[in-house]
Amino acid sequence: MLKGKTALVTGSTSGIGLGIARSLARQGADILLNGFGDVEGAKAQLGEFNVKVSYHGADMSKPAEIEDLMRLAKDELGGLDIVVNNAGIQHVAAVEHFPVERWDAVIAINLTSAFHTTRLALPSMLSKGWGRIINVASAHGLVASAQKSAYVAAKHGLVGFTKSVALETATTGVTVNAICPGWVLTPLVQKQVDARAQQMGLDNAAATRNLLAEKQPSLQFTTPEQLGELAVFLCTAAADNIRGAAINVDGGWVAQ
Ligand code: NAD
Repeated sequence: MLKGKTALVTGSTSGIGLGIARSLARQGADILLNGFGDVEGAKAQLGEFNVKVSYHGADMSKPAEIEDLMRLAKDELGGLDIVVNNAGIQHVAAVEHFPVERWDAVIAINLTSAFHTTRLALPSMLSKGWGRIINVASAHGLVASAQKSAYVAAKHGLVGFTKSVALETATTGVTVNAICPGWVLTPLVQKQVDARAQQMGLDNAAATRNLLAEKQPSLQFTTPEQLGELAVFLCTAAADNIRGAAINVDGGWVAQ
């Protein structure tokens, strides 16, 4: 279905990004990976799909490195058809104790990087007459939690950015939408389970149950595969008129 298309998934060496990259590759899209850590492991996970896999290690908090990533996409891969803005980090602290450097990093990676990839990818999508920009926001793009002011600000910002660019492109073949997951068991969330286990004197299973019960009525994690299949759906013609949506996949979190 996506043969002949090229997709950038930022932060795709792990977790949700890797799940989305796998789903897009399963449909035949060539993939440009990005992120830190186990790059070879991520590439190996795409090996079974018989698509072209490239990698650029841009730090998504650095505009000059993002420009270099987008230059590679344009000059060596023929431009991007699909951009999934997924790279993200979390930092948990009360606002009066929030390290200024962590605030800046959360906003830069979770929000500002999407501005840069979007402004740089859009001209070629518009000239081709087709494109998909999918922003991985969060339930925290729709509702807040205490101790996460930077993340909540970034994700609300990303949902707002999604709507604004969707309006600017509303009459074109480019759609812009946000996916808003609730809890997904990735390294980003395991850190929060570990912190909870330590604070409350719980084992991993009890801390996991406690984390889910607090926010996610289904008491089930969403999986990277489920989010990947939603991203694939957003690339189909059935989704041509879904524009500026913030789709929650959250076990009922924001219905409360
Ligand atoms: P993860 O920690 O497993 O993966 C994060 C990815 O981003 C990794 O590939 C990492 O290398 C990359 N990354 C981090 N900093 C980067 C930087 N400066 N430059 C480039 N890449 C960088 O986390 P995840 O849970 O898969 O999160 C992916 C996205 O989903 C994030 O935007 C996160 O906010 C969002 N999200 C996660 C959950 C969840 O429950 N896990 C819920 C809602 C939203």
